[in-house]
Amino acid sequence: PVPGSAASIDELPIRENLRGKSPYGAPQLTVPVQLNTNENPHPPTRALIDDVAESVREAAAELHRYPDRDAVALRTDLAAYLTRQTGVAVTVDNVWAANGSNEILQQLLQAFGGPGRSAMGFVPSYSMHPIISDGTETKWLPVFRRSDFSLDVDSAVSAIAQHRPDVMFVTSPNNPTGHSVPLSDLRRILTAAPGIVIVDEAYGEFSSGPSAITLIDEFPTKLVVSRTMSKAFAFAGGRLGYLAAAPAVVEALLLVRLPYHLSVITQAAARAALRHADETLASVAELAAQRDRVSAELTAMGFRVIESDANFLLFGQFSNAAATWRRYLDEGVLIRDVGIEGYLRATIGLAAENDELLRVSKKLVATEL
Ligand code: PMP
Repeated sequence: PVPGSAASIDELPIRENLRGKSPYGAPQLTVPVQLNTNENPHPPTRALIDDVAESVREAAAELHRYPDRDAVALRTDLAAYLTRQTGVAVTVDNVWAANGSNEILQQLLQAFGGPGRSAMGFVPSYSMHPIISDGTETKWLPVFRRSDFSLDVDSAVSAIAQHRPDVMFVTSPNNPTGHSVPLSDLRRILTAAPGIVIVDEAYGEFSSGPSAITLIDEFPTKLVVSRTMSKAFAFAGGRLGYLAAAPAVVEALLLVRLPYHLSVITQAAARAALRHADETLASVAELAAQRDRVSAELTAMGFRVIESDANFLLFGQFSNAAATWRRYLDEGVLIRDVGIEGYLRATIGLAAENDELLRVSKKLVATEL
């Protein structure tokens, strides 16, 4: 027996708001076709692997010292990348980085949420927003999307006026539905919001629309745009998320970040990956084309497919989504049951993986819908 196994979580003096909650739980299973966590399916190029390895080798000579606490070189590179990608001239002072955008979101709630404060989000959306709210004891206020999953901005604005949340989450493109929020809608939300508005652009590179970063100068005390290298950037294993905001927001995050949170290794590897941004992001257009092909074929088979601006598709309608998820898995295709009745989410993979998804879908369509 494992030492301590007699104790259950219910016996621990855990905070009341965490009792009975479930942890984040995307299954990590090794199956032939993994289309469940919205990664870029293209492995890194040889040149990128070599550059990361060489950069980490050099960084290893400094492992006896703490890393640059403020990750200035990495943030400078990220700012240059954002400037190129969005057309907004951001600098190192506008950018903050952490171990994945999850850590960025957690730091934001540590600074701007917390006990006695609230965070509002439009559900369904990214399941970590409420989990990070719980972890920081920020009261979570869900506002439901329409039944077609679109955002009703009028009802959003009245919910903001009613509850006056300290933090708003807007995910664009939204996970798991794939919708982007137009800048005109964002402007209305920003104008109505009394506190911080976090626009989670984890899938920003896949969207054809402009980034919310274009609005930072208009709403410097409110807007924070969160981004990640985990998705389009094909660096999920490297764990690097970042944000763009007014320099004052970065100053606020320095108050809550743990010192030296980004290791020497992470900083070196992320900088190397950024040097290969153009070759990595060349896959974005191809993935968008694959997405449109999969969407069209699923629709032709009779599925209801939600229009997506990201690298995944939400589709249904299944009489029992959990059972159908299992049938895909039995056929070697791991997709995601995001807990929306009647729907499942599939990440867009390589062409051959998408063919597998379509093959299984065709097999299941008659029995599962
Ligand atoms: N935001 C959204 C909307 C996501 O879908 C994800 C990943 N599933 C993240 C943030 C977090 O990603 P990471 O911590 O890898 O940057």
